[in-house]
Amino acid sequence: MKFNKNLENIKTYEAGKPIELVVREFGIEPKDIVKLASNENPYGCSKNVLDAVSKIVKNMALYPDDSMMKLKDGLAKRFSVAKDNIIIGSGSDQVIEFIIHAIANSNSKILMNSVTFAMYEIYAKHVGAEIIRTTSQEHDLEQFYELYKKEKPEIIFLCTPNNPTGDAIDAAAMQEFISKIDKDTLVVVDGAYMEYAAYKDESKSVDAKELIEKFENVIYLGTFSKAYGLGGMRVGYGLANENIIKELYKIRPPFNITTLSLEAASVALEDEAFVDESIRLSFLEMKRYEEFAKQNSIEIIDSYTNFVTLCFDDTRNSTQISDALLRQGMIVRNLSSYGLNAIRVTVGTHEQNSRFFELAQKLL
Ligand SMILES: *Cc1c(COP(=O)(O)O)cnc(C)c1O
Repeated sequence: MKFNKNLENIKTYEAGKPIELVVREFGIEPKDIVKLASNENPYGCSKNVLDAVSKIVKNMALYPDDSMMKLKDGLAKRFSVAKDNIIIGSGSDQVIEFIIHAIANSNSKILMNSVTFAMYEIYAKHVGAEIIRTTSQEHDLEQFYELYKKEKPEIIFLCTPNNPTGDAIDAAAMQEFISKIDKDTLVVVDGAYMEYAAYKDESKSVDAKELIEKFENVIYLGTFSKAYGLGGMRVGYGLANENIIKELYKIRPPFNITTLSLEAASVALEDEAFVDESIRLSFLEMKRYEEFAKQNSIEIIDSYTNFVTLCFDDTRNSTQISDALLRQGMIVRNLSSYGLNAIRVTVGTHEQNSRFFELAQKLL
C-alpha cells in the first residue's frame, strides 16, 4: 500500500505517558504514580462542571448541538467578540490542524520558534510545507522578522507562553512585530497558557479581542485543557476575523465536540474563582521548584505557565533522569527530542511536588 509521501518523515507525537502504561510496564500501583508530564491542572476542574456534566450524562443518543451556541455565547462574552469570530476544536490542537490545512500546501513555508509546540511541525508536514525555524531558544522577534522578510512564510506561529520552555513574549513587542507583517501571512498566537502568564505579569498578557480587531491576519488560540482542568474533554478555540473563521469552517468536521465536552467547557468558563485559585496555587508551588533548582545547581527557565523546565549541565543526562523517575512512578517530560538536555515538570499539588523533590534529590 502506498501512503501519502508527506507522512514518511513524521515521527508520531509522543504524548505524556499515560498512568495506565506505567502500571503495566513497571507493575506500580496507580496510587503510587504521579503524572507531571502534560501540564494538566492538578486540582481537577470546577465542581460545577462535574455537577453539570453528571446531569446530562445520559444524553448520548443525539448528536451534539453543532452550532455550539452555549459555549460560543460564553466565549463571546468572556472575550467581548462576536460569535462569528469563534471556532471551536477538539482541543486547540484541532484548530491548529484546521489552520494549516486551510492555508498551507507543499509550496508553503511555515515559520516557528526553534523550540516550540511539536504539533505545528506535525501538521505542517501533513501538507508537505517547509518548516523554517529561528535559532534562539526564546522567541526572538527580530530574528522572526528577518526570517519573515527572507522567506515570506504563509503562516507564523508564536507560542506565548512557549511550550516546552515556559517563557513568554512581551505583549507590546508582539503587537509591534505583527504590525510589520503583510496581510497575506497569517500569524497564529497560541495562548494555551495565557491565563497563567496574565496572572504573573501584565506585560505578557495578550488581549485577544484587541489583537483580532487590529489585525485581520491574526488568529488567537486558547484551550480548556490547562488552567480550566478539562484536558480529558478536548475543547479548544480559535478567535479571529470572521473571514478566517469562515474558511476554517470548511475544514471542520461536523459534531467535532461532544455534548458532554460542550457542557463542561461552558460551565467551566463561568467559574473564574476556580481558575484563579488553581493559578495562584501553581505559582506558589513553583517557588519550591525554583528553590530546589537553586539548591542543586540546576538552571530553571523563568516560567509563565504551570510547568517548569529544568536544564541540566553535561554532568547530568535528562533521559537517564526521566527514565529513573519513571521506574519509580514519577512521569515527567524528557525534552531530549527537542534537542534539550532538560526535563519539563508540570507543577502539581503540594504532595505531588514533594514526591518529585524526594525522588529527584536521590538521583542528582
Ligand atoms: C496543550 C497545548 C495546546 C493544545 O492543547 P489541547 O488539549 O489540544 O487544547 C496547544 N498549544 C500548546 C502550546 C499547548 O501546550
